[in-house]
Amino acid sequence: MRGIDLHTHTVVSDGTLSPTDLVALAARVGLAAIAVTDHDHVGAIAEARAAGARLGVEVVAGIELSVEHAAGELHLLGYLFDEHDAALLAALERLRMQRDARNARIVERLAELGMPVDLGAIVASASAGASARKGSRAEGSGAGAAPGAGASSVGRPHIARALVAAGHVASVQEAFDKYLGDGRAAFVPRARARPAEAIALVHAAGGVCALAHPGLVKRDASQVVRELSGVGLDAVEVWHPKNPPELRARLLALAEELGLAATGGSDFHGENKPDVTLGCEAVPLAALDALRQRKG
Ligand code: AMP
Ligand code: FE
Ligand code: FE
Ligand code: ZN
Repeated sequence: MRGIDLHTHTVVSDGTLSPTDLVALAARVGLAAIAVTDHDHVGAIAEARAAGARLGVEVVAGIELSVEHAAGELHLLGYLFDEHDAALLAALERLRMQRDARNARIVERLAELGMPVDLGAIVASASAGASARKGSRAEGSGAGAAPGAGASSVGRPHIARALVAAGHVASVQEAFDKYLGDGRAAFVPRARARPAEAIALVHAAGGVCALAHPGLVKRDASQVVRELSGVGLDAVEVWHPKNPPELRARLLALAEELGLAATGGSDFHGENKPDVTLGCEAVPLAALDALRQRKG
């Protein structure tokens, strides 16, 4: 039986495969459906869908949003929304403008620490990867494009790779551990919405919302799921590489109790997370049906 993978990234955010290559890989490993869930950007969905139509892989519209919580940063996954929704697109563009400003401050700090990197080149290279895609130049990518209007969502993983390329650190992980990770020397916080706001945004665009990788939540994940369930959460990501087995069992029971859908995916990022393979989680086909039911 062919599987599904509801958590994947492309070059439009911090993955390394183009949308077409991601879908081609999905077809090769025998997936029936994938959701494309780039950070703060829906720019990969149309191309992925076109590839999916050719290759027999269903492509579900997705997004990954970072939100603020007492437990620290949480990630929410939006699914099955209208990716042309004007309010959603405007909100995503605002988030990417905030990213641009924050990236500039991170790079300033790195320069002060004696590790200059060229932000213009980082953005151009991210956009070049993303805008190799047909039609994406219409979005305004590359040098001189309006802030936040780029073909890709640029963030710390891109800066980490530039630090490696410049020889300032040996690996992306070292870049995070020493400089870019929360609270490290060049860390700059990013403005984040509250969970209820992000959930409302996805709902208003006709979609549903899941809590991503509860295994990475720094407080009791069950408590966070209960709380978010009270502000409209539709689902919880039970199958994810960072969820230990005992947590999965607990989340399945909790989803049942609260009437939430149970979803899952690999969180595939290509070469940026080389130990994670597409389709590595055994996500039941029923997960997608359950999301559709929540939407209905
Ligand atoms: P940003 O959205 O720019 O804040 O970057 C967040 C992304 O950076 C996350 O989705 C992770 O892929 C990566 N990341 C964040 N913290 C770490 C860390 N400590 N080690 C490795 N990767 C990290
Ligand atoms: Fe990521
Ligand atoms: Fe995430
Ligand atoms: Zn992700």
